[in-house]
Amino acid sequence: MESIFKVDISPIKDQPGQTIEIQGKIVLPNLTGVGDRLLELINPWELELQVTNINQGFQVKGKMAGSYEMICDRCLEKVRSYLETEITDNFLPANNSCEKEDGDKIYLGDELDLTETLLETINLKIPMKNLCSPDCQGLCLVCGLNLNTQTCKCQQDVFDPRLANLLKWKEQEGGGSDGQSKR
Ligand SMILES: [Zn+2]
Ligand SMILES: [Zn+2]
Repeated sequence: MESIFKVDISPIKDQPGQTIEIQGKIVLPNLTGVGDRLLELINPWELELQVTNINQGFQVKGKMAGSYEMICDRCLEKVRSYLETEITDNFLPANNSCEKEDGDKIYLGDELDLTETLLETINLKIPMKNLCSPDCQGLCLVCGLNLNTQTCKCQQDVFDPRLANLLKWKEQEGGGSDGQSKR
């Protein structure tokens, strides 16, 4: 993974308890989320971090916020959403002898590479279901029209009793539901 954000920890490397405060904007790449959904991040994102020397390693805490676009699961229109989320991660030295817990990251030298931490955090917080609105009508399964903005005949075939009668008549006459006579 290409590195997008690194923190220089040399000022607090030999000072347990000391913290570096980071505040700024970052540019993030597009992500592939759950179910191969493309997550287009609207840059820049806001980042606020405290990196603390916790003796056996470094603790990263803070928050990030920004907007992203993803298509609606039902109608496939792009939806823009805003995400604000907490960040927590621990970094241990690569040659460390103490227990590495699940999710702990490794660092080498004087730098923490936060790329994975940031992208992982976003991916975990994106809702499983993405809808443009809770009552999105989706696409017509027959003709593919967006039913939020248009109505199509296929829907009426099912719901309009007058049309249903007309179709019945057409069938008796040998016409298909597409209105073309088969004779
Ligand atoms: Zn929708
Ligand atoms: Zn339709």
